[in-house]
Amino acid sequence: MSAPSILAKNLRAIGQGLCLVVRGCAHSWSTVVKSPYRKLVLGITFGVLPASVAIATYTAYPSDDEQIARSLQTEIVAPLPIPAIADQITVVTTPSAVTTHTTMIRVNDTLGAIFSRLNIEDAALLRFIRGQTLAQPLSTPREGVYVQAKVTANQKAQTLKIFLEARSANQQNSVVTVTRRGDRFVIHSEPFVYETQQAMRAGIVKGNLIDSAKAVGVPDEIAKRMPIALERAINNGLDITDGDDFRIIFERQFMEGDFVRNGKILAVSLTHQGKNYESFWAEDGTRNGGFYNLDGTSSRTTFIRVPVEGARVTSSFMPMRRHPVTGVLRPHQGTDFGAPRGNKIFAAADGVISRRSFDKRGFGNYLMIKHDDSRTTLYGHMSRIAQGMKVGTRVKRGQVIGYVGATGLATGPHLHYELRVNNRQVNPLKTNIPDKEFLTSEEKQQLLADARPLVTRLAMLNRIQSVKPLTGSEAVAQQNSAEPPK
Ligand SMILES: [Zn+2]
Repeated sequence: MSAPSILAKNLRAIGQGLCLVVRGCAHSWSTVVKSPYRKLVLGITFGVLPASVAIATYTAYPSDDEQIARSLQTEIVAPLPIPAIADQITVVTTPSAVTTHTTMIRVNDTLGAIFSRLNIEDAALLRFIRGQTLAQPLSTPREGVYVQAKVTANQKAQTLKIFLEARSANQQNSVVTVTRRGDRFVIHSEPFVYETQQAMRAGIVKGNLIDSAKAVGVPDEIAKRMPIALERAINNGLDITDGDDFRIIFERQFMEGDFVRNGKILAVSLTHQGKNYESFWAEDGTRNGGFYNLDGTSSRTTFIRVPVEGARVTSSFMPMRRHPVTGVLRPHQGTDFGAPRGNKIFAAADGVISRRSFDKRGFGNYLMIKHDDSRTTLYGHMSRIAQGMKVGTRVKRGQVIGYVGATGLATGPHLHYELRVNNRQVNPLKTNIPDKEFLTSEEKQQLLADARPLVTRLAMLNRIQSVKPLTGSEAVAQQNSAEPPK
């Protein structure tokens, strides 16, 4: 896959806030040096390594690194208590048994499509659900809701669960359960909490971080979020390259022993040329929390460096230049990001719209955002300003504020972007924009407490990676012995 297509694919997938990260990575992704052997061994070792076995073994062998790692490599032949695999065994050995299927409701989903993903063909259940108020998030599919069904071999659901997760702190999770009783159904709703397990994976970058993580069993949506945890390091020049070691700990959430969904990333660690980068999830007063270093600094930068979709830098930051339209030499302290007309422009950081204007002889349709007492940004030449953007409107980092155009004095569609600190324009692409994102001291104490066991586990994964891998035949033997009996 070429760098541009990787870029395009991942831009869509990762989301607006990350465009810069992907741009940063795309360069290194294009140079693919292969190390298939090492990857294979690690894939086998960690792709199947359940956290519980690893942690139990680690605590049992306290000191010698190599010994710990070797003992782990022999311990993993134990049968694996991962539900997905258990389901597969069930399918293979007892064809009449009940299987569990889980799916998430998508945009514009239909009840029929959801049933088919759950492997259900059950007209009576369909009718029942359509008539039940409690089942409305399923009958009128609500995006993002997880649904789980236990389905018999003849595709009838024994039970069906709709997981309605709390949307704010003062709400409670509730689960709606439909149960088959002979030839009729009963439905009820009750509060629930997920049973949460931690999963660990480790591997070596080959091609790009996201695909390398997926290759060792990191679920797709978790892998895509990994760069967020390393965003500041990437913005500050960390160039993730082939051969870098990565480790990740993330949550898997269960209900009554059945896997429902992946949860948060708890920790990401990456070793690049001997230097270790670590990032931990912490509660920070925002809805979803964030990633922080152990010193309490955010792993994200306050400002998105390139706040426009699909951008290239057409005119780098410079104090004076001849204007392309008027030919007049004048200060040009912003940065021009060439991008197709209509592409989204994002608020570079949280703030309040401080100006909305049209300037025929200059920036055309433009907006200014005040981020704090010292910093403002300006976005010029927009074809259109997004709905609701008025002076005083509060915007979030990454929110769409307008669309690329060529209004005002512009030769072609581009975003003219300025970052002003204390009314002085600074280069938004330079590496050390003053950032202000820190945890409060209470939040930091909590982070340190939560991170302590994670640090230990990451270090353990790190040591295992550094131990000379098994020979090929040993690895194959282990893999075979870990397979379920046929
Ligand atoms: Zn410009």
